[in-house]
Amino acid sequence: MTAEGHLIVAIAGAIFAKRAALTPELAHADWWHLISAALLTCLLPDIDHPKSFLGQRLRWISHPVARIVGHRGFTHSLLAVCGGIMLLQLHFPENAWIPPDAFQGMVVGYLSHIAADMLTPAGVPLLWPCRWRFCLPLLNSQKGNQLERVLSLSLMILALWFPADAPPFGADGWSAHLVNLAQSGFQRLFSKSTAQ
Ligand SMILES: [Zn+2]
Repeated sequence: MTAEGHLIVAIAGAIFAKRAALTPELAHADWWHLISAALLTCLLPDIDHPKSFLGQRLRWISHPVARIVGHRGFTHSLLAVCGGIMLLQLHFPENAWIPPDAFQGMVVGYLSHIAADMLTPAGVPLLWPCRWRFCLPLLNSQKGNQLERVLSLSLMILALWFPADAPPFGADGWSAHLVNLAQSGFQRLFSKSTAQ
């Protein structure tokens, strides 16, 4: 995915994170903190590629990282995702040098990059160091950047459309309802197929 695509997806991710209230800090985040922080880190996972937008500018980091873990290696793995989720749980002291909403925005920006790369046919090695690639290849490199732009902007519109008054993310939130719905659907499907 291009740097432009990643920047748009990061904005979409930041809007979604706030509207879906992924954490209390994100729910009450300042829009400027959140969006600028997400934009700041959304290209960071590609630091492992010396030809990427960031890799070209920070060659002294990208070259050694590429040599050690390879492109789309550790930085795009489930380990990095779990690290990000753990960082979202961190409790910040009042006088922290970085506002909590900006810090969490940086995590959201980073995670949005991995999600966006999953839309490309190359996928991401979630189980790194195992080389299996996971993807939902909606983007076809032959169709060029136009499709990428349309898809990223659609994600942004979807994020804006997400109802801000939905119950918060958590035990009683929309995510739990979604999981329950999927579970009861599966149960019904399973009981039907065993009854036949
Ligand atoms: Zn990437």
